Amino acid sequence: MDCIFCKITRKEVGAEIVSEDSTVLAFNDIHPKAPVHILVVSKQHIQSIAHLEADHSEVIVKLIYTAKRIAAERGLGGYKLVFNVGREGGQVVDHLHLHLLGGWEKPEDWKKGFGV
Ligand code: AMP
Ligand code: ZN
Repeated sequence: MDCIFCKITRKEVGAEIVSEDSTVLAFNDIHPKAPVHILVVSKQHIQSIAHLEADHSEVIVKLIYTAKRIAAERGLGGYKLVFNVGREGGQVVDHLHLHLLGGWEKPEDWKKGFGV
């Protein structure tokens, strides 16, 4: 399948991998919108949150839990987790992924909306 995130999970395209297990892969976003901007993607090709089915619940838990673990490992005191869903939701890559954003030092940045 001609999907960039499938190619990254299959190691056909390089990425700065942060974490990997049998279900999910986490890697640095190539165009970071925050000091820490990591994508956590399902290894299975699922188009988006809008395409979730009941038997995908374990994948979603894994995406969120992996982001939480990475944030803790990085010592992030707080962070944002974002799913863009569909074109009108800003989704560009049609493969399920969770944005983990954080690392802002200035308190005035903490409440900003970050379009990702
Ligand atoms: P979205 O707009 O939610 O679909 O987000 C897609 C994200 O994937 C964007 O933040 C891109 O910068 C990022 N991205 C696209 N191609 C790559 C790549 N080859 N490696 C890492 N991140 C990528
Ligand atoms: Zn894919």
